[in-house]
Amino acid sequence: MTQSKTIHNKIQTTNTAIENLKCKECGEEYALEAKHICEDVCFGPLEVKYNYEKISQIVSRPIIEAGPQSIWRYRHFLPVETDNVIDVGTGMTPLVKSERLARRLGLKNLYIKNDAVNMPTLSFKDRVVSVALSRARELGFSTVSCASTGNLANSTAAIAAKAGLECCVFIPADLEAGKILGTLIYNPTVMAVKGNYDQVNRLCCEVANSYGWGFVNINLRPYYSEGSKTLGFEVAEQLGWQLPDHVVAPIASGSLYTKIYKGFKEFVKVGLVEDKAVRFSGAQAEGCSPVAKAFKEGRDFINPVKPNTIAKSIAIGNPADGIYALELARKTNGNIESVTDAEIIEGIKLLAETEGIFTETAGGTTIAVLKKLVEAGKIDPEETTVTYITGNGLKTQEAVGGYIGEPLTIEAKLDSFEKAWERAQRLDRLDWQQVLV
Ligand SMILES: *Cc1c(COP(=O)(O)O)cnc(C)c1O
Ligand SMILES: [Zn+2]
Repeated sequence: MTQSKTIHNKIQTTNTAIENLKCKECGEEYALEAKHICEDVCFGPLEVKYNYEKISQIVSRPIIEAGPQSIWRYRHFLPVETDNVIDVGTGMTPLVKSERLARRLGLKNLYIKNDAVNMPTLSFKDRVVSVALSRARELGFSTVSCASTGNLANSTAAIAAKAGLECCVFIPADLEAGKILGTLIYNPTVMAVKGNYDQVNRLCCEVANSYGWGFVNINLRPYYSEGSKTLGFEVAEQLGWQLPDHVVAPIASGSLYTKIYKGFKEFVKVGLVEDKAVRFSGAQAEGCSPVAKAFKEGRDFINPVKPNTIAKSIAIGNPADGIYALELARKTNGNIESVTDAEIIEGIKLLAETEGIFTETAGGTTIAVLKKLVEAGKIDPEETTVTYITGNGLKTQEAVGGYIGEPLTIEAKLDSFEKAWERAQRLDRLDWQQVLV
């Protein structure tokens, strides 16, 4: 009797705090379906509307702390109706207090949120996909899909496999080998489109309209984007239930960047943390920096660009949440800065050499922007600054190949080792290559 009641409760529990979808521009409300645009009124983007009164009655620090070691410890803030979520261990990644990188940059309170080790596919995208596919299952979708710059396809394919959902993903054909292999291994259908991400996305909008599939970042976007709030929740909890002073995060569509802010604000709203003015700084690659350009030129609109950068995972030329990212940087007294491909490679190496974290090009972009902002005096050394590392370097190996030297090949003899070691002592590591040639 008791047992069956427990099981019954588990299936039936509903999250009554999610109320509707609401247009970010005009406030029009819609039912909680697979819909992302205010099609009746203004064509603005839809967001999930919550009842924060209800949430604040349910949650507390101890309840969250006793929850699962994953994003689902924050499930009352996430747009799912049942407890039957797909928990593949996503989230609760390390928040690392930086010592050596901080010293190198002259910062006193630098933290690294390390989503390079997120589960299951080593990028922040596992957060948004865990949420989107949990909701897709509730809405009854049997086939899921996405328009991806690489990491999203990895996550969608992996988590769909775990959930037993059919999966067909769309990627630009020129992606890094590691990103393509890291999708194919889960055996979805992979469409490699001859075009850039913005063209892939346009195609997917047409497919979404006629195939009845759940596209995580198109018709499921209101649910998907909520997953990024967990990057804010976790940092607040890991800092001992307080907000940082300054955040540095990458901007592709601008969703992650703006949702970290939303996460912080929701914690304030329900009384979990004290309010504080957090500065939000954004990072883009110069070869695809429509938001950084608009920021610098003082515009409040985005001019779309054609991407040309090694930072493919954040190469979105026409960012859906670009104007909201702009707005956030300005209202929080932050900055949006861009860096060259050469600086991105230096950023990847700098993080690896000082912190032992191998990130991909997006992370290199963020570290290079962090450095640039510090050098320009736009980050105060005393500020508690959190920089978000969103992906893993093993997926974009071609970006750094040729810039990291070579192993010293020696004979299996002591004197061969000794000679090589002696030379290595005298040379900068990057010169080794020349010695060997
Ligand atoms: C997708 C992605 C981002 C940024 O995503 P938004 O579209 O801005 O939410 C950042 N880093 C990595 C590694 C990504 O894959
Ligand atoms: Zn509207």
